[in-house]
This record gives sequence, C-alpha cells and structure tokens, in this order.
Amino acid sequence: MPSPPAVPPTVTTWRSASARAAAGEAELPSMLTMVRRGMLNRCPNCGEGKVFRGFLKVVPECEVCHAPLGQLRADDAPPYIVIFLTGHILFPPIFWIEKAYEPPMLLQMAVWLPLFAVVCTLLLRPAKGAVVGWMMKLGFADQDSPHSWPADTGTSRDG
Ligand SMILES: [Zn+2]
Repeated sequence: MPSPPAVPPTVTTWRSASARAAAGEAELPSMLTMVRRGMLNRCPNCGEGKVFRGFLKVVPECEVCHAPLGQLRADDAPPYIVIFLTGHILFPPIFWIEKAYEPPMLLQMAVWLPLFAVVCTLLLRPAKGAVVGWMMKLGFADQDSPHSWPADTGTSRDG
C-alpha cells in the first residue's frame, strides 16, 4: 500500500470544531467553496484529496488533510436532489415535444427513459459530493470521535 502523500504546506490538517477553536484557527472555508469542492470530487476541507474511492463510495478520511469524510452519511439527499433536478431539466422538453410533434409513445419511451437514466447517473456523484461538503460545513464532521454522534450526553440507554 503506497504511503499517503505529504500534507502540502498550504493545507491545514483537519481538526474538529473544538480543536480549531482551542487552537484559535480560522473557520472552515465558505459554504459555497465546500459544496463546490465536493461536487468536483475534492475534499471540502482542503480541496486537495478525493471524496470518492469508487463511483459513490466515500473515502473514510481525506488522504491529504485527514478530514473524516466517511462519517458524513449523505443518505437519501443526493438521489432526492438528482430526481428534482432531472425532472426540471427534462420535463419541459418532453412536454414541448409532445405538444408540438406528438411523436409515437414507443419512440418517446425509447428516447426519454434512457436519457433519464444517463442524466441521473451523471448527476448523482456531484450531488453526493456537494451534500458531503454541505454536511461538513454544517458541522457533521466536527465530532471528536465517530462514536460520539449524535451528541454524547454522558448517558446511555444500556447503562
Ligand atoms: Zn482534505
């Protein structure tokens, strides 16, 4: 297994919110920056490491700044966003072509269904990356331990 690349001097190693506050460090990048980096498969924190190791599998942590990207569970948000966007992109031309040319239903199915599949597939990864960046900016990665989420109140049900 190759050793991880050295942290460039311009990149801040990931620290949780409490550690950043204790060290007097700057805030995270802006929401827009973090979402944009995630969309482009770049770590929202440093902009250098990758978010995905497969098509949609999020890496456990950034290989450059060690931000705990694997803790950020996007769940159903990316498909929701993709369905919303794809519907708004494709339904206007579908309705317009139906009204203007009335093509046979079989032809429409042969064109629109594969197009929906392709557009959804192309949008899913950027949408998930954006959600990961959004969640990181909102503080979902700021827990000091993956076992402390949700907020550790010092009590637990099982004693
Ligand atoms: Zn990073």
